[in-house]
Amino acid sequence: MKEKELKVVALKNGTVIDHIPSDKLFKVVSILKLDEVKNQLTFGNNLESRKLGTKGIVKVSDLFFTQSVIDKIALIAPCAKLNIIKNYVVVEKKSVHLSEEITDIVCCANPKCITNNQPVPTKFQVINKEPVTLRCCYCEKVFREDELKIK
Ligand SMILES: [Zn+2]
Repeated sequence: MKEKELKVVALKNGTVIDHIPSDKLFKVVSILKLDEVKNQLTFGNNLESRKLGTKGIVKVSDLFFTQSVIDKIALIAPCAKLNIIKNYVVVEKKSVHLSEEITDIVCCANPKCITNNQPVPTKFQVINKEPVTLRCCYCEKVFREDELKIK
């Protein structure tokens, strides 16, 4: 516990995204578009976690996300927790929430779907949360989260 606290306070200002399933770490990075930012980033992966077996953690300096951006990662990392750090202190803790509708985060797996043939943003309705099951609002086909490619 002590060691973990030390790792967190090493960040002066920014966001710590914790409890990411290890195999989803880089998907989270890509959804949050962290591969495009110039901010300082620190990753840890395959860290021991009592809850998940192993987990990943991301620390971003001087970057704070809106709730709607945070909720985008709910689809792949529903247990993720965010710590908002200001002046080395955790000032806020946030959880992710899976919204009823997922817009433009994943691609439809139906090759005939209009979203794969025309420049329309994808839209899915969340019809089940455990396991996450989505229905495409255009072709009405139903998919599990792991069948869908993140955009
Ligand atoms: Zn579709």
